[in-house]
Amino acid sequence: TQRFIWPMAQFGQIINMYQRARASSARMFGLMDEPSRVAETPDATDLEVREGRVEYDHVTFGYGGHEGVDESDAAETDEDEVIVEDIDFTVGGGETLALVGPTGAGKSTVLKLLLRMYDVDEGAIRIDGQDVREVTLESLRESIGYVSQDTFLFYGTVEENIRYGTFEADRDAVIEAAKMAEAHDFIQNLPEGYDTEVGERGVKLSGGQRQRISIARAILKDPDILILDEATSDVDTETEMLIQRSIDELAADRTTFAIAHRLSTIRDADQIVVLEDGEIVERGTHEDLLANDGLYSHLWGVQAGEIDELPQEFIERAQR
Ligand code: ATP
Repeated sequence: TQRFIWPMAQFGQIINMYQRARASSARMFGLMDEPSRVAETPDATDLEVREGRVEYDHVTFGYGGHEGVDESDAAETDEDEVIVEDIDFTVGGGETLALVGPTGAGKSTVLKLLLRMYDVDEGAIRIDGQDVREVTLESLRESIGYVSQDTFLFYGTVEENIRYGTFEADRDAVIEAAKMAEAHDFIQNLPEGYDTEVGERGVKLSGGQRQRISIARAILKDPDILILDEATSDVDTETEMLIQRSIDELAADRTTFAIAHRLSTIRDADQIVVLEDGEIVERGTHEDLLANDGLYSHLWGVQAGEIDELPQEFIERAQR
């Protein structure tokens, strides 16, 4: 499918309008690697993914009272403030669900609950009928791949960073994955190619390059469920289109959750869920939502350049 890329300046403007709470999605992958803060039940069994159907059953959650909550994030968070409320949807196996909404609406939080970084306060999340609280954390996280520009790179070689977790993959498989992720060319241009040390003490990679490493990692991992966390990209338009193509391929036959800021990247999603202030305010396909004349259609209008700015009513709602 033909895609077009929004001018980034305009995108930034929209995001700024909504800037009221700090974003925390940047740390998501880091969290994934930390020792878990949730307890595994003694009789936990391995998750068995069959279709890859994911069900959020009236999920409510707030950070208050949960262990390991980052104080800097919690600065503005009331002890028992509800962050996401009554989130209810089902994603069929192989389908894509996109989460859209202003900064701080709760998009990352919804997905942290799927990874079980925190437990829900009310409701349940099930994968093919299995409550995430009843399966082993290892099997849960092995089934889920995560792609982001803020991907955590540990101190090690590029190859080790791509192989991360997929120990059986040989170098050829790593290179193959890197090619599919449009990462091979820049990797070859690094001082020692695939043997270049990256991470905190190594060569610094740009956000776009880290994103491509994380795509290669996900291609190699071949997870049943994929989480795409789009961030403002600092790559050129052509690379952006190539990256989007490999992301589309990666998402094609597996259950995918996409957090999108640029609506152009998710217009083909099977379902789009619009979150505002932790609640689902709209849902449907791109066409459904355009017809709705709500937040989504106005955001779309702004991003497509059809309207100059978001109507005051939406700005006020976002700043509440
Ligand atoms: P963005 O688009 O900026 O990434 P988002 O929609 O993903 O935003 P979340 O990151 O889920 O929103 O944040 C929702 C709310 O939860 C915000 O008010 C945020 O400050 C708060 N929050 C996020 N992480 C934590 C945390 N670890 N501890 C306490 N509060 C948090």
